[in-house]
Amino acid sequence: MVSKIMENVGLVLEKIREAAERAGRDPGEVRLIAVTKTRTVEEIEAALAAGIRDLGENRVQELRSKAPFLQDKQPTWHLIGTLQTNKVKQALEWADLIHSLDRPSLLAELAKQAERRGRPCDALVQVNVSGEASKHGLPPGDLEPFLRLVAQQRWVRVRGLMTMAPLSDDPEDARPHFRRLRELRDQMAALGLEGVSMEHLSMGMSGDYVVGVEEGATLVRVGTAIFGPRD
Ligand SMILES: *Cc1c(COP(=O)(O)O)cnc(C)c1O
Repeated sequence: MVSKIMENVGLVLEKIREAAERAGRDPGEVRLIAVTKTRTVEEIEAALAAGIRDLGENRVQELRSKAPFLQDKQPTWHLIGTLQTNKVKQALEWADLIHSLDRPSLLAELAKQAERRGRPCDALVQVNVSGEASKHGLPPGDLEPFLRLVAQQRWVRVRGLMTMAPLSDDPEDARPHFRRLRELRDQMAALGLEGVSMEHLSMGMSGDYVVGVEEGATLVRVGTAIFGPRD
């Protein structure tokens, strides 16, 4: 198990490097987040041993149950799943970057808890570029007014955008959605809003991270391609 995980990390990193080079990008701009939902601390340690520095969890509960055991390795934790307002306080104890900021009420609660801690919090705005009803995220048309709200407070700093492409067997289906997110990023960056920097694009999972990197991802969130199928 350990050697398979280490081998998979190497393979994924190699594909990221090739995709970045095809797109004329510096592979060093792309960080591989190992998505650890349902995985054991032992499995996660194997990924860290293979050079992974960034870990992603969907649920605050699962993050809290594992992160203390991995503290000595000092990983960067990403919270990539939907965040309920009543979990914000716990989330901020462990997560370094929240990928799922998608509504004013969550912005307000993040700002409140960050102020209480005396430490600004970093977040990405999740955008529903595909328009699928099942997907979380702000509609693209709501992004600019939302970022203007962000600019009115100083405890939550927006560092970029995140999206999920619709489920599909063909990675090419994700491309137009990822391209759209990059265009939105460029448009929003041009507004030059206070507290809003747009250096990150979090897009691409096991099935489509290569396309994500070709389209400009700086963060890819990969679970099964590293750890194998989930039960
Ligand atoms: C589970 C999950 C991933 C990783 O999915 P894989 O297909 O296993 O790579 C990425 N992003 C989010 C938001 C997830 O929930």
